[in-house]
Amino acid sequence: MLVGVLGSCASQGTTGTLQTRTDPQSTYLELRDQWVTKDRDLSFDAEVVLNAKEKALDKQLVLLRDSMITQYRDQHFFPPARYFFQSQEHIEQTQLFKILRSMPKGGILHLHGAASGDAEWVIDQVVGDPHAYVYWTESNRTFTKGQIRFFAENEVPSGFQSAYYLDAQVTNFQDSLKSLLTFDANIDRDSVDIWREFEMVFNRLYGFVSYQPMFKKYFLRAFKNLVDDGIQHVEIRGIFNQLYDLKQSQGYYNRDSTVVYFQEVAEAMQEIEPAFTLKVIFTDLRFKNVEQINERLVAAFQLRQRYPNFVTGFDLVAEEDAGHSTLYFLDTWMKLDSLENVYGVEMPLYLHNGESDWVGVENMYDAVLLNSKRIGHGFNLFRFPHLIEEVKARNICLEINPISNQILGFIRDLRLHPASTYLRRGVPCVISSDDPLIFNYKGLSYDFWEVFLAWELDLTALKKLTLNSLMYSALNEDEKKKALVYFNDNWQKFVDQALVELSP
Ligand SMILES: [Zn+2]
Repeated sequence: MLVGVLGSCASQGTTGTLQTRTDPQSTYLELRDQWVTKDRDLSFDAEVVLNAKEKALDKQLVLLRDSMITQYRDQHFFPPARYFFQSQEHIEQTQLFKILRSMPKGGILHLHGAASGDAEWVIDQVVGDPHAYVYWTESNRTFTKGQIRFFAENEVPSGFQSAYYLDAQVTNFQDSLKSLLTFDANIDRDSVDIWREFEMVFNRLYGFVSYQPMFKKYFLRAFKNLVDDGIQHVEIRGIFNQLYDLKQSQGYYNRDSTVVYFQEVAEAMQEIEPAFTLKVIFTDLRFKNVEQINERLVAAFQLRQRYPNFVTGFDLVAEEDAGHSTLYFLDTWMKLDSLENVYGVEMPLYLHNGESDWVGVENMYDAVLLNSKRIGHGFNLFRFPHLIEEVKARNICLEINPISNQILGFIRDLRLHPASTYLRRGVPCVISSDDPLIFNYKGLSYDFWEVFLAWELDLTALKKLTLNSLMYSALNEDEKKKALVYFNDNWQKFVDQALVELSP
């Protein structure tokens, strides 16, 4: 019967070139192998060829991966299937984490400025600054408990107290503030609640990050953390007209000042890490109306015209399920061509789309039709079979944020994360972290740890994911070449070291 089935399928031309043989088991296995090979050839990393040392490391890494999976299965606890905060400390103690920490990551392409830093460092600054105040009473419509802001002494609104005073008077003040700025195992409800809490954390941080005297220091610290994790290139989504200080309110510092400060931070980083590069994506919120976003798009063009190799594109962010659809801004998108003519620069889009579990959220159509250079998340691409082919044909890269997707409630078990399938279907992807300050971790090693195990990746996949983060970056061709030389050099050093680490 089996031979008959195989023979009949083969005759319909769907199974390759198999001839029915006398040994049905061999026939079956041969056909199976052909199908496995066909799937492997479709994979996003199919063209990567490892050298001898890489092959040796790959073998060791796969052994390590499989022994970890066996152990977790025996314990009935597989961390990537559980909430990140249940295993964060465990992850840090594993040999795999140590290896991934030392792996060159290339670029981080999906990162929000206000949530890119380091909560403990923020708190250190707050309690040490005489002008830092924290709203330390119950939240109301105007202020949120834990909200940080800097004030001149005689201008402090009711409810804000000196951080210095709070630190001295309130038991465990720093821990309490940290728990208001970061998520932990208690934030485990449905995604609507999580988003509300998430936006409250942004409210708390906003007055800190946008305080002009802190701005550069904050990003310098954030980028140092990334470099420590093997990241050489950063693309940050930022809002550009928000800075204030003790004398000047928001609006005094124009958008150019923010760009210049970012450039100064990048130069300071290059003193520490000469290969460091930075690009910024002009961002606004999808809650705003069309007129407001039209105005922001013009502002983005003006900045890009002045800093074409630094301000690299445009995006709209915030909760996709709650905000306007991408189609709602059609009028804005239809202005792109004429604005490109007026300002003489293109405006690549990096649209945050597909970050939704709802079947009816169809923003991916617009992200693809608008030829987004990359798509932030693209989580629900699996719902649109035609779009999967379009994304591949147009060579659009998805910025996948595995831990963020889990924490914000879009998927619990990372084995089932759709990006695992995207990779197997040849969709270009990169791994990113979205809001690491709020998620209380640094770098990309945690995300790589989770997906290495959850998606049963190997060294070929790791290499391709990290290379993608430079290939699909906004670096110009010359910068890309230099970045790749640096990356490849570091990669070979990593391979040598990891081989020693894993030698039997
Ligand atoms: Zn994001």
